[in-house]
Amino acid sequence: MSTIIPIPAFADNYIWVVRDGTRAAVVDPGDARPVLDYLAREGLTLAAVLATHHHQDHVGGIEALVARHPAPVYGPARETIPKLAHPLRGGDAITIPGMPLDLRILDIPGHTAGHIAYVGDVGSAPALFCGDTLFAAGCGRIFEGTPAQMWASLAKLAALAGETRVYCGHEYTLANLRFALAVEPDRASLWDRQAAAEATRHRDEPTLPSTIALERATNPFLRAGHPVVRAAAAAHAGHPIVDEVESFAVLRAWKNEFR
Ligand code: ZN
Ligand code: FE
Repeated sequence: MSTIIPIPAFADNYIWVVRDGTRAAVVDPGDARPVLDYLAREGLTLAAVLATHHHQDHVGGIEALVARHPAPVYGPARETIPKLAHPLRGGDAITIPGMPLDLRILDIPGHTAGHIAYVGDVGSAPALFCGDTLFAAGCGRIFEGTPAQMWASLAKLAALAGETRVYCGHEYTLANLRFALAVEPDRASLWDRQAAAEATRHRDEPTLPSTIALERATNPFLRAGHPVVRAAAAAHAGHPIVDEVESFAVLRAWKNEFR
């Protein structure tokens, strides 16, 4: 049965490994060293590298990794990814060689212009690898897109099955929850989530994966259209909010300067 393991990298990145038997697929290897160590320690053969977007902290380790472990590199067609062998677009479907791993590709532009996500069943549950677009209780910064694009991308992810496990690229959960509580201080489920996440971090464990159901219930960015969140966005902006995209845009700008 396939399992998913995090390899911590840099200050707060996670490199996700899907492993089954002696084979492994690696998502967003920003750094080769910890992946090479993990593969050697566990006696695994690299079956594939999957990239979500072109940022260095997600692709920086690809060259060194495939130099030691030749394996096909999958990634967004619209971005420059080292050693890219399989350029992917939304609607594509792939099977990882030698693994029981079928993945669908979603286009989710906004953080970067060509950002993609991978969705598929791993073990008994659907899994989503979404890079820096949807985070636990947050979302990525909009570097190469518009708020409308990012909102549409997040809406696409929010529409996945509730039990879908969310494997994102960074451990940002506690900082995201502090912001979420500034937006919705009266939401009890947010305080519960914060207490649970603090306990997890005190044990030095990842707060991930999250689930789509939990994100729909507590992620302020997915809740931008909710009246309470809209009211908070309007109060912060100091003017009425016309629609959910504007609400989302105000929240994203607010988070950028939130300390
Ligand atoms: Zn990024
Ligand atoms: Fe990143």
